[in-house]
Amino acid sequence: MIVEQIWTGNAYRNFNYLIACGETGEALAVDPLDHEKCLGRARDRGWEITQVLNTHEHLDHTGGNGALIAATGARLLAHVNAKNSIPGIDRGLQAGDVIRVGKTVELEALDTPGHTMCHICLLSHTDTPALFSGDTLFNAGAGNCHNGGHPRQLYATFAEQLAQLPDNTLIYPGHDYLANNLAFTLDREPGNEDAAALLEQARNQDLQHALVSDMALERRINTFMRLDNPGVIARLREAFPDLPQVPDPATVFLKLRELRNSW
Ligand SMILES: [Zn+2]
Ligand SMILES: [Zn+2]
Repeated sequence: MIVEQIWTGNAYRNFNYLIACGETGEALAVDPLDHEKCLGRARDRGWEITQVLNTHEHLDHTGGNGALIAATGARLLAHVNAKNSIPGIDRGLQAGDVIRVGKTVELEALDTPGHTMCHICLLSHTDTPALFSGDTLFNAGAGNCHNGGHPRQLYATFAEQLAQLPDNTLIYPGHDYLANNLAFTLDREPGNEDAAALLEQARNQDLQHALVSDMALERRINTFMRLDNPGVIARLREAFPDLPQVPDPATVFLKLRELRNSW
């Protein structure tokens, strides 16, 4: 499996992806908003884009479908329940469905509601797993729930699926919000040295070669994965004095999500 992360450079800070089979050169494009950059990268690599996958229905993820499919004839894959919100789906995906790219690549569809209720993450079946997380899990952050989502569902997705992934799982999110998210982590947890060290690097990084985090790093720098951290809970109590002495992780997650909305 070969992964190309494509930095769009747009105002929304989208990342697009090509996932290719090294043997056949067939490729799947994930959320190819910047269809020109995706087509150009595929051409440079000698790849043929045969499938397009939308992680969810928001326009900054689906807006390149028409042009890219017109240019390649690729099939469109998205959540089975997105049929009414994403035109032209050829294959509706459910949890556990396997997407093959060429001869060597297998990706598993995870049904990951929360940011929207029709959100798919892709998990590669590779020695080092890779998660294409759309707007569900960001580097050092979590997706918002303003446009068709539900925070409780997002918490369930984090707790039941994402938090179960092994430490070496690589994270490929739908946007670059790393520096901003690290600043929120430090607002919540001023003593987090990992986040402080990474913030310097994040502010100066070349997004053509962006840092690719893994679950081990997310567990250290992502507040939404540190729900039982005593410092996070103590600081949260300053904003929410009624917080129980030992709050359950769902409560901590929901309060953090609430603070992040207005931060
Ligand atoms: Zn979105
Ligand atoms: Zn988005």
